[in-house]
Amino acid sequence: MTELQLAGPRPAISEIEPSVLAAWLDARGEPAYRTGQVLAGAHRSDAGSFDDLSDLPKPLREALAESFRFSSIVDSHVIGADGGMTAKAVHELDDGQRIESVLMRYAARGAARERTTICISSQAGCAVACPFCATGQAGFGRQLTPGEIVDQVLHWHRPPYNALSEDGAGHYNIVFMGMGEPLNNADRVFEAVRLLNDPDRLGIGARHITVSTSGVVPGMDRMVDELPQVNLAISLHASTDALRDELVPINRKWPLAEVVGAGRRFAARTGRRVSLEYVMIDGLNDTDEQAVGLADLARGWRSHVNLIPLNPTPGSRWSGTPPAGIDRFVRILRDGGATVTVRDTRGREIEAACGQLHAQLSGRSLREARAASTASVAPA
Ligand code: SAH
Ligand code: SF4
Repeated sequence: MTELQLAGPRPAISEIEPSVLAAWLDARGEPAYRTGQVLAGAHRSDAGSFDDLSDLPKPLREALAESFRFSSIVDSHVIGADGGMTAKAVHELDDGQRIESVLMRYAARGAARERTTICISSQAGCAVACPFCATGQAGFGRQLTPGEIVDQVLHWHRPPYNALSEDGAGHYNIVFMGMGEPLNNADRVFEAVRLLNDPDRLGIGARHITVSTSGVVPGMDRMVDELPQVNLAISLHASTDALRDELVPINRKWPLAEVVGAGRRFAARTGRRVSLEYVMIDGLNDTDEQAVGLADLARGWRSHVNLIPLNPTPGSRWSGTPPAGIDRFVRILRDGGATVTVRDTRGREIEAACGQLHAQLSGRSLREARAASTASVAPA
């Protein structure tokens, strides 16, 4: 009999290998078809625990709950914003590390269908240390496991949030834009993407998943070979190395020419459009010179510039570029031949930028935070 000889807490069902589950079930005299049944059940949007898998015999549900966990997330504190259209969670893990994820719903508008995006973390903290980012300021905690990554999605997929779109299309988008640099945890992030894709689990198409990177060139090249259907976003934030060295310190290792080169290889080899993310900081990276330089970097290949007004972290010396400055920047980019959109800033009142809610809750238990919270959470 294959017993699970893993140190530490019981494994989470989100990352268990089907062969391990099959052996565990076989040892209990269960038929082979149970493996698929358990995996499908654990990923159903109406199941909040093993006990909800009512197509399984009760003793099996109890045995599953003794050997496995339904989620590797120990506790979550959730707050809502935008009239219930945005919700943000701080999740606590086994060792007390905390991470963040966000659910954003967009109502159907005109011909556009209702959309839902789930933003997840790839690491507890981040070592890249971008000075405008709350996660970067807090430093690096540890790598997340594939199960800890998938369980953030399951948190919103399951009751009471049920993130699946109401039109029955049965999917949502996932963006790696929470805490951490995903390509500094590439093996586990790639494994998490495979788990998310798995038709026996959530079955989320790769084209609905976006990896955002500060510019880890070898990881971007691996994506071409290993995840060619996943979307790539590159956090550029400056168009000269002198400024980018300050704003995205990993630029000292992989400077702009190399980062943009890797983006162009990805676009050329996959035929996909790469987004270039650009946080707009008043008086710093929003000058005409930076705009002209950015147009030069973005022009002539399948790229798309996404401008994001800075959401200032508490005590930040910087503020976001005002609308008139953004308009001017957009014009220069378009005149320079780049395609551009300005991203709406969701959930400002719930500290939705990367790492901010986590920072605000530092030193408090999630139970205390929940008790003190006045922001309402409105599951759909
Ligand atoms: N580490 C990866 C992914 C996580 S950060 C990366 O940097 O791409 C996701 C996005 O949030 C990045 O584009 C990042 O620059 C942006 N971001 C971080 N702090 C922000 C803030 N205070 N305001 C607006 N965007 C921010
Ligand atoms: Fe890390 Fe991204 Fe924040 Fe930079 S912006 S510190 S890379 S999470």
